[in-house]
Amino acid sequence: MSGREAPEGKKLIRSPSGLRMVPESRATQSPFGLEEPPWVPDKECPRCMQCNTKFDFITRKHHCRRCGKCFCDKCCSKKVPLPRMYFVDPVRQCAECALISQKEMEFYDRQLKVLMNGATFFVTPGTSEKTEMMVCRLSNNQRYLFLDGESHYEIEISHISTVQILTEGFTPGENDIHTYTCLLESEHIMEGGNTRATGMLLQYKVPGSDELKQIKFAAGEDFSSNKKLSATWLAAMHKAAKLLYESRDQ
Ligand SMILES: [Zn+2]
Ligand SMILES: [Zn+2]
Repeated sequence: MSGREAPEGKKLIRSPSGLRMVPESRATQSPFGLEEPPWVPDKECPRCMQCNTKFDFITRKHHCRRCGKCFCDKCCSKKVPLPRMYFVDPVRQCAECALISQKEMEFYDRQLKVLMNGATFFVTPGTSEKTEMMVCRLSNNQRYLFLDGESHYEIEISHISTVQILTEGFTPGENDIHTYTCLLESEHIMEGGNTRATGMLLQYKVPGSDELKQIKFAAGEDFSSNKKLSATWLAAMHKAAKLLYESRDQ
């Protein structure tokens, strides 16, 4: 096994697509994880699904590890990291999938760390008037948002139903709330961009109940350095929401 050992809570699996380091149990899987796609059977693809070249003894077929479709070597030559499927090494992907995976790498390299480091917010749960200053961070296993102040809340990521990012220059209102669904095409909430995120509304389900709970996060107004960190954290959360939204849709 090339000398690799799985850390506690994880196990190594050799799939036809490559070596994977997966969580021991489903209960500890990351909400950002994706299932490996089934491979399109050989007999169903006599030609490259991109350039239509016929496969034979010289032109061999390759499966894209992300979408499972068949391609010739030319159309599926890129090896790109795919942490969402727990691959240990970069794996072969078609051009379209390679592009998506490369974009996601930025999330894994940067935003995920930002989320885990945490930031400070004024947090208002539900419809209450009471606001508390809390540190909010993503748990190490990526499954929970931990909020710590005088109170402690845990919100399971997979139970979040909507993420709405509030931005600077607007007073919260129907038209000014950017939901991540309408932001799929838009990249304007970025670190250092023109529009700075100043808050977030989360709606989530509580286990054992159909009721949706809401919690509001507002970046502090008083100290500018914290405010910037909070904006960066919110931008990271926005990206996380996009990732989750897209994979729920698949
Ligand atoms: Zn091809
Ligand atoms: Zn693909």
